[in-house]
Amino acid sequence: MNPMKELTTWRAACYCGAASLSCRAAPRGFMHCHCGQCRRLSGGAFSSWLSLPGEAVQIQGQAALREFAPTANGRRFFCGHCGSHLYTLDSRMPEIIGVPAGAVLGPEAGGPAVDAWPCASGHYFCSDGAPWVALPEDGLPRRGGVDGMSPLPD
Ligand SMILES: [Zn+2]
Ligand SMILES: [Zn+2]
Repeated sequence: MNPMKELTTWRAACYCGAASLSCRAAPRGFMHCHCGQCRRLSGGAFSSWLSLPGEAVQIQGQAALREFAPTANGRRFFCGHCGSHLYTLDSRMPEIIGVPAGAVLGPEAGGPAVDAWPCASGHYFCSDGAPWVALPEDGLPRRGGVDGMSPLPD
C-alpha cells in the first residue's frame, strides 16, 4: 500500500458550492452501480460510489442540505439550492459514508490526485443497467442477478 494515500484529503462539493465535505483518510471502497435508483438519482447511465470512513468525514454547509429517505435503510443528502447529491448514509453500513464520485473535486480544487484513487472493485447491478449504454470494457468484474452482487458470466 502506498502510505501517501493515507494523507490524501478527499473533498466533494455540490454544483453551487453551498455544501461540501472533506475526509483525510483512505477510502474503504470504490465501485460502479448500475441499479435503477442510482440512474434516476444521478441522471447518468450509472453511478460511481466512493465509500469514505464516516468518523473522518467533515460536512461543511450543513444548513444547505436537504434529506431524502427512499428506504428504511437509506438517507440521501442533497443541496437544497442546486439539487446535487452530496452523500448517502445506509444504516446497514453505519461506519461508511457513500459519496457520488462525480462530486469529488479534482486536485486543482484541493481534491485527490488521480493516482490516489483506488481501483474500482467492479460493476454492480449490471442486470438492471441502462439498455441504451454499453458497459465499459475496463476489465473489472461484472456482477448482477437478483441481488445485484452475483458474478456474471463474461
Ligand atoms: Zn449546491
Ligand atoms: Zn445503485
